[in-house]
Order: sequence, then structure tokens, then C-alpha cells
Amino acid sequence: MDKWTYFFSREKTDGGKELKGLLGGKGANLAEMCSIGLNVPPGFTITTEACLRFQLTGEIPEEIKTEISSSLHNLEELTGKRLGDDNNPLLVSVRSGAAISMPGMMDTVLNLGINDQVVESISNATGSPRFAWDSYRRFIEMYSDVVLGVNNSILSVCFEDFKADKGVTEDTDLSAEDLKKVVKLFKQTLLQESGVTFPNDPKKQLWLAIEAVFKSWSNPRAIKYRELNDISHSLGTAVNVQSMVFGNYGDESATGVCFTRDPSSGEKKFFGEYLINAQGEDVVAGTRTPCPINKDSKNGSNMELPTLEELLPEAYGKLVDVYQKLEAHYHDMQDIEFTIERGELFLLQTRNGKRTAVAAIKISMDLLKEGIISEKDAILRVDPNSLNQLLHPKINPGVNEVFLASGLPASPGAASGILAFTAEEAVELGERGLSCILVRQETSPEDIAGMVSSAGILTSRGGMTSHAAVVARGMGKPCVAGCSSATIHEESKTVFIGDQELKAGDQITIEGSSGKVYLGEVPTEEAKLTPEFNELMSLADKFRKMRVRTNADTPKDVLKALEFGAEGIGLCRTEHMFFDAERILAVREMIFANNLQDRKNALEKILPFQKEDFFGIFKALKGLPCNIRLLDPPLHEFLPSLEKDQKHLAVQINVEHLEVKNRMENLEEFNPMLGHRGCRLGITYPEIYQIQTRAIMEAAIDCHKAGINVSPEIMVPLIASEEEFIEVKKIILDEISILTKKFPEISDIEYKIGTMIEIPRAAILAKKIANDSDFFSFGTNDLTQTAYGISRDDGGKFLPSYIEREISPKDPFAHLDRDGVGFLVKLATDEGRAGNSDLHVGICGEHGGDPESIEFCQEIGLEYISCSPFRVPVARLAAAQSAIKLC
Ligand code: PEP
Ligand code: MG
Repeated sequence: MDKWTYFFSREKTDGGKELKGLLGGKGANLAEMCSIGLNVPPGFTITTEACLRFQLTGEIPEEIKTEISSSLHNLEELTGKRLGDDNNPLLVSVRSGAAISMPGMMDTVLNLGINDQVVESISNATGSPRFAWDSYRRFIEMYSDVVLGVNNSILSVCFEDFKADKGVTEDTDLSAEDLKKVVKLFKQTLLQESGVTFPNDPKKQLWLAIEAVFKSWSNPRAIKYRELNDISHSLGTAVNVQSMVFGNYGDESATGVCFTRDPSSGEKKFFGEYLINAQGEDVVAGTRTPCPINKDSKNGSNMELPTLEELLPEAYGKLVDVYQKLEAHYHDMQDIEFTIERGELFLLQTRNGKRTAVAAIKISMDLLKEGIISEKDAILRVDPNSLNQLLHPKINPGVNEVFLASGLPASPGAASGILAFTAEEAVELGERGLSCILVRQETSPEDIAGMVSSAGILTSRGGMTSHAAVVARGMGKPCVAGCSSATIHEESKTVFIGDQELKAGDQITIEGSSGKVYLGEVPTEEAKLTPEFNELMSLADKFRKMRVRTNADTPKDVLKALEFGAEGIGLCRTEHMFFDAERILAVREMIFANNLQDRKNALEKILPFQKEDFFGIFKALKGLPCNIRLLDPPLHEFLPSLEKDQKHLAVQINVEHLEVKNRMENLEEFNPMLGHRGCRLGITYPEIYQIQTRAIMEAAIDCHKAGINVSPEIMVPLIASEEEFIEVKKIILDEISILTKKFPEISDIEYKIGTMIEIPRAAILAKKIANDSDFFSFGTNDLTQTAYGISRDDGGKFLPSYIEREISPKDPFAHLDRDGVGFLVKLATDEGRAGNSDLHVGICGEHGGDPESIEFCQEIGLEYISCSPFRVPVARLAAAQSAIKLC
């Protein structure tokens, strides 16, 4: 029989941390905390499967309703309280919780169960009318927004006006009588402005709240978040119905969030924020400045505020015990939510804390050194894609920057941009290709699209656990939060930062690692990698089976890639060497030559440049393999497209403008990507490949003479048949044999000649092609293009809608399509090896830097992957993870 609800309490717990898929992260961990004896308010979790059933019809099926009612009954029995009971009322929270954490994206309701009678009973029972009415006020505000769908600004404006009339700023300055008036005012406003009568029946409140949480799985911001984070839409959210504990019960009550290690730096220090006399959303929403839980949590903006350790030492001591117990139990850094009700500590949530890439690496390496996790776990703990954050720039110290203000260092990295005062403006600026900084008092999940579009985020309110801080960290964007000296006027689009007034169109620079804000665009400096980064990389290298090469065309890029640990070049695109201002003219002369001799003369001019390039690259590589691709693009790409540039070219090469135009027309192709390019160029103009072979081999000889080892690999692009390859290979070998007469030392140089596999026919006929080839390198950019029949350049017009409608799960140009393109890659690998047992096989398409595709490459047994220099660390880690997962 299906089970739709799981109970959790110290007395009886059905679930545990292994049931995350069914109970969501929050539900599974609440159950787990109960079973290890922690003080968790009892409750029950309605499963994600129940949510999926709800999504089918928009109604909770009867059998699920019956089970929920029975669990509620059990909760009432256990607590001795009843929902809606005038004498001993039960209040509950109704909280969402998906299997993969989606902070702030879905809905939560607290204090559910209060009505006009219950509020009096709470007031009498607690002897604190203020607490009772404050809870009722909060409940109406939250419930109206989340469940009744009333625009939350209606009640918040009403509340702010009320406070202004009273001449107070803090909620805590209002008396019970005031709050009673606020509740009355709220109900009137709801009726007048939205025609909504607030439900007085607690059971009805509960059913509507459960439905609202189920529905929130499909709200636009949750959908957007899942799209951005590659989370499946078919998981559903669980709903946790839990008896309330109250952090707003007076001055011995509090609520807070803490991390067992610093989520920004990874340092081993207990770190967190709390608010006295408050409920959970107050800390996260950033409406009050949170206090530090201990000395280690102090920073520039909370230095003067009292710590929890000072104010409630006993509860703090318990929290210390709990955090140590939780970290030891989960073997990872925990993000914990807690509430203290009249001195008693309760745990409301624990989860593996979100962290920056720097912190992820430090925490992994520290846990390894502390003997808590294994080497393999330490490698698997770090998301390879997150390493991109480490490579982000920082402000260049010592330049004459104009410092404006300081806030909290919420998420590392530095960014400059034009001020954007709303998420919409940020999206608009982003669409115009302009870098912007989103400047807000605080962000909310509605701002998600604007945060994606901006280069960085600055908020004037909120702490290290505010929405802006948590979300920016997850996105790897710089964020300065809680910059209290920034006063933002959204309507007039101005902001005072420090004593400087800035307007729309002005630029600022933020540094998320230090929390500093500067005027204008400040130069940045490249990131320096931490010692733990190098430790992790070395550890990854110990487990990795595939080699990691780089796609690089200049000595500078090669050196950068080597610094990141590249073990050779997997693709040197020689056409990039042709575009240099000094060389392009000779290339154009070659294109305009009317006979073979003129073409050769023009190519002779290019030879010394290419030779010099190859020499520099070989020298940097010190004997590591260097895969050089012969010319690939269609020739028209080297000609100017603007008329004024064509006229200039005509003068330069001493021909009529008309002739340039005619030649351009001649070279025009309907489908250049499938036209006269790749090996087809080499076959029709063998002199191009001859000169390139000469440049490669002569540079190799020069290196050899200078005592530098070289391992050149000459690669032929766009092969579709064995015959084509044999033809081009002959051109290369003939040139080498001419050179050998002049330079007999060529026989000391170990070179290879091989091909790219980027056309389905080549993959199908791989066995034959491999007979003559030393290596295959999969050009999966073109192979995806040709296998799908989707142009690499035009796919952007319709692929997003394919992905949105789940016709195609992912962009096949970013993540290798295992079923189709992957099938061809595997086929060609197996067939190629069957044709030539010494065949070397690697990949050089963009997929070589994508962790998901790298896993596939490991599965089918490729020898190496090759990617751009900055992705080399990502590829090293991803390759190690794939090797570990597969063994
Ligand atoms: C490829 O097609 O995958 C490739 C690496 O070559 P290019 O991107 O230069 O066409
Ligand atoms: Mg290609």
C-alpha cells in the first residue's frame, strides 16, 4: 500500500536521511535529527509523490487526505494539543522541501491554526498577549501572500503606515493593543482591497496551505531556478507539517541560522546569525540586521551587536554540542536553522551547506586531513563546474580606485557595471550586452532573472545568510550585501553610497571577497589559487585515468594551460594564426592568386610566421604532445565583409575593386559549413597543407637542434572517407620526405599523422580510416552539427524552445548527446581500435571541458580530453570523479 506521510518525533520516526527523494531534504533530515536524539518539534512529512499526484489534477486525492488527517490526529495526540482548540490549540508550520535544495523558491507558512478565538487562548495560556497578537499578525501577513495570493505589498504598506503613525520603526516597539489593531486593519484591508475574507477555520487554513505549497513547485521562480540549476521538473516537493516553536516569545527566545564552517572561506569556525524575539523569516529576509552568534561571526556591520553566546549562554552551549554532533554525523559542513523558545533550543533544519568553490575545496581537504572522509570522497565533494569561480578576477590592489563604502563580503569575485535599480532593468541591460550591477535594498526570489543578468549584486540590507548572499554564492557571482551606507531611491533611480550620489547610467565596481564598493570601473587582477586547490588537483591526478590536454593556439595560452595542469595540446587551430594583422594580407594574396606559383609565393610569406608560432608553442610544451590541425575554415572567412575594407584590400593587393567583389561572390557558398573547407581545401590546394607541414616540421627541427623535445601530431580536419585521408596523408608525407633530404635529423623526430572525426560517415567507416591513421580526435562540435543536421550558428534560434518544451533535454552543443552523437563517438572508438590496435583516441570539441560529457568519455575509454585553458582544472577534477564513479 502506498504511504503518503512519514511521522517524525523523538518517540516515533518513520523516515531518515536516505529517503531524500521521497521526503525532500528538509523532511529526511528532520527525521534523521529525531532519530539521533536531537530536539526537533514533532510533525509529519507529506511525500513528493503526493505532490506529483496533486499536480495531475490540482486536487489532493481522498486517500492522501485521509492519511494526512490521521497523521494530524497522531500529532495532536502526541502534543496533547488540537488544531483550532480554544483551550489548548496546536499551531503548525507548513513548509516546502524538495529533494534538491531550492532556497527561498517555494512557499512556507508559519503560525497556522490561529483564529480570533485561538489568539485569546494563546494570550491567556502564555500570559503574553503581545506574543499572541504578534503571531496572529505574522500569520495573516504570510498566509495572505502565500496561500491567498494577495500581493504582499498591500499588507506590508499597511503595517509600515501603522508603525509610522505610531512613530516607531521596529516591530518590537509595538504593544499587544497595537498588534490587535493591526490584525483588525489587515482583515479590513484584505476585504476592501482584494475581496478576501480571511479563513477562521484552522482545518481549512491547513488544507489550503498544503495545496499552496504543492502549487509552489510550479511557480515561475521555482521553474526558473530549476532550469538554471539543471534540476528536473518532475521531482515534486514534500510538505512538512510541524508543531510550532516560537522564537518570538520574548527576550529569551530567538531564531537563527548557523554554519558549522565558514561557507565563504571554508575556514573551520562556527559561524552564524540570530535575532532575539523573532521568527525564521526575519533573519533570511534581511528586514532587521542580524546579530552574530559568537565572536567569530562578527564583521564590520554587526561588531557592536550582542552575541548569542553572551545573551543566552546555555542555549548557545547546546547549539555548539548540536553542531558538532551534526557535522560528525553527516561528515560534511552543515547549514542549521534553530529556534530558541524561552531558553530551550529546537532544531528546525539541517542540510549540507551551500558554499563557495574556495570553501568547498578547503572543507573537503580539511575533512580529509581530519580523517572524517576518504580521498575519493574529498574529490567527489567538489563540483567541477564550481571551480570556475576560483578563476574569477579580483580588484587590483594599489590602483587609484575611489572607495565608496563597505558591506558584507557575501560572494567572492569582482565586477564592474552600470547601475540597475530593478531586476527588469538588469535583464534589459544584459540583453543589450552591457555589464550591470543590480543595486537593491534586499533581493527576493522575484529578482532571480535580474540576478542572472547582472555581473554582480549590491544590497543595502541583509546579512550573510540573506537571499542575495545565498543565491549569489550559488551562482558564483560577486555580491556585497548589507551595505548600510548605501541609500537607494528606486523611483528616482538614484543611490547615495557613502556621500556620493549616483544615477542611472553611472558605473560602480564591487568586490564580493572583501565587501568593498568603488566608483567607476576599477581594473581587476587574476585570481591566485589557494594551496588547497593545488592539493585537490594533485589528489584528482592520482585517481584520474584520462589525460587532460588543452585547445590553445598561442604560446601565452599554452603557458596558462600548463599552469593549470594541461598535459599537452589537443587542438591547435592554425587558422587563428592567419588572422594576425601582419599575416592576413599574405593570406588574402594567396586567395587572390591566379595561379599556383603566385599562391606559393604568398604562402611563402606566411611560412616564417607559422614556423615562429610553432617554435614558441613547442618550446612551452617541452616535449608534451602537440596536436596541430591543418587549415579548416572556408576561405571566404579570411576576406573583409565591409565594402570600405574590400576597397582598401583592392588597393593593397593592386587589383580593381570589382575583382575583389567578383572573387568574394565566387567564394560565396550556400552552406559554408558543409562546403569547401577542411581536408577539401587541402585536396584542391595542396600547397596550403604543404606549407603548413613545412612550418611544423622546420619548427620541430629547430627545437630539436636547440635540445627541446617535440612531439608533433598533424591533424587533418573534416575527413569523410579513407580515400580522402590517404590523399592528404600523401601530401604531408611527400613534403616531409622533401624536407628529410635537407634535414636528415627529421628521422629523430617522432611525429604522428591522424584525423578528426567530425562527420557521421567517418565514424561509421572508422575501421578503414584507422588503418592509415595514428590517432582520432573527436571534433564533437561539428559531429553534433552534422549528426543532428543543426547548424552550430543557427541552432540558438530554436534550441531554447526545444529545451523549454523538453523535446531536447539539454543543449547538445554544451552537453554531449549520449544517445546519438555519443553512439557515433563510441562506434568510431571501437571500430577505430579494431582497425588499428595502436590508435590513440581523444576529444577536442567543446564537450571536452564539460563534466557531464567527460563522464561519457571515461565510460567509453577515451585516452584524453582537451579543452580551453581555463577549463583544464574543471576537466582534471571531472575526469577524476568519472574514474572514481566507474570503478
Ligand atoms: C569540432 O568541430 O569539434 C572542433 C573542435 O573544431 P571547430 O570547433 O574548430 O570546428
Ligand atoms: Mg570542427
